[in-house]
Amino acid sequence: MSGTPDFDYDLFVIGAGSGGVRAARIAAGHGARVAIAEEYRFGGTCVIRGCVPKKLLVYASRFADDFADAAGYGWSVGESSFDWPTLIAAKDREIARLEAAYIGNLTKAGVEILRTRAEIAGPQAIRLKETGKVVTARTILVATGGRPTRDDKLPGIEHVITSNDVFHLVEPPRRIAIAGGGYIAVEFASIFAGLGTETTLIYRGEQILRGFDREVRDHVAAELKKRGVTIVLGDIATRIDKTADGLVMTTRRGHSLAADQIMFAIGRAPNTAGVGLETAGVALRPDGAIAVDDFSRTNVPSIYAVGDVTARVALTPVAIREGHAFADNVFGGKSVIVDHQTIPTAVFTTPEIGTVGLSEEALKATGADYDVYRSTFRPMRHILAGRDEKMLLKLLVEQPSDRVVGCHIVGPDAGEMAQLVAIAMKMRATKADFDATMALHPTAAEELVTMRTPSERHRT
Ligand code: NDP
Repeated sequence: MSGTPDFDYDLFVIGAGSGGVRAARIAAGHGARVAIAEEYRFGGTCVIRGCVPKKLLVYASRFADDFADAAGYGWSVGESSFDWPTLIAAKDREIARLEAAYIGNLTKAGVEILRTRAEIAGPQAIRLKETGKVVTARTILVATGGRPTRDDKLPGIEHVITSNDVFHLVEPPRRIAIAGGGYIAVEFASIFAGLGTETTLIYRGEQILRGFDREVRDHVAAELKKRGVTIVLGDIATRIDKTADGLVMTTRRGHSLAADQIMFAIGRAPNTAGVGLETAGVALRPDGAIAVDDFSRTNVPSIYAVGDVTARVALTPVAIREGHAFADNVFGGKSVIVDHQTIPTAVFTTPEIGTVGLSEEALKATGADYDVYRSTFRPMRHILAGRDEKMLLKLLVEQPSDRVVGCHIVGPDAGEMAQLVAIAMKMRATKADFDATMALHPTAAEELVTMRTPSERHRT
């Protein structure tokens, strides 16, 4: 498409995370004159201080299992030791490589890169904070992401770290207390336990991972406990104090948890402050996220928003899809609505969770009839290793349609399996389709197509 001479740019993107970068590249590919502004590092939460460095730490944390399991297979592994600075330096090199790739791809696509904070100065105007210069754009995309929330009223909160800080610790804590029971809290509890840190997870509810299938929650909690994570339920921090020996978290129920680091992972909030949204009159939802329609349009016709700042589903692939669809719709003449249903997701604890579709509780709440197929077993690899850890596979089949509407997996490579099952479920596969699929032997995943008899039948 041809440029719009009245404006400096056809598209100005604020924020170079997963959603913003994808939107900028695709729009430029459609011929738009695009600029993208980023105040910190290119790649956003996922690449710089989220999914990617987290997964590298997850890999690091799992080697302890490999060393321990090797003996059962005849290997004798010498004394092993772990060096945190080596891991962090390697992780930093990989993040720098990925950031450079992001910048390289944007440049190749012809996107102008602006290393500055940018704020909306009007419906089609943006102020570059570095220079104070105001530029204009026919369309503005807000892709500013989110940030960890903290309980700022809590006495001693200044001693607490969040997921933003954890990747830069100079040394691994000997003891850590982690507040929260969602993705980030349980993933880091698992990472630190794997790396040999004495780990306590403190969660206000009655079981971690609210919203996941109940059996998955119970199964993972039990396995994490076996791995040495202390899980404190129904409790919450009331103050944090610095002591000669580190930190102490005092809780509502009167516990005193001593730790070298206290991490809060109690959710994330959309980055809407200081973006100039009020200047342009962009409406927010009651939870503070930018309100958008199915096409990521805000109430201001020239301003769109994608990714975590819209708090639809706070996952990287979702932000990427939203950014891509925005660019295709506004600059490519398409009309794409991103489907936010049946999104597979993983929690990278050890053991790992992979899930797609409805939890049993959510399915039950629909009032539908359904069958549960469940298999709990020791994965083959664990047998010679002598590892006492079970795998869980659970399929939820709606009746009488016979459609598989929920798949929940806990165990090695559960995330990889959930990604593939999601294709079948997106195609509305029935249990009969699963049954007609030949098993691949010997794998753990074959259980998904060999569970013949329902464990339970639920009829209303
Ligand atoms: P989540 O929303 O997953 O979990 C927040 C947790 O903190 C919940 O257990 C919540 O309890 C608890 N909580 C909320 N407020 C308080 C409070 N004031 N005091 C104590 N506890 C509190 O947030 P996360 O920060 O873990 O992650 C943010 C999002 O990032 C996730 O929802 C996910 O979308 C994404 N993410 C995805 C990952 C993946 O795909 N593997 C990994 C990491 C993040 P309650 O349940 O009672 O509300």
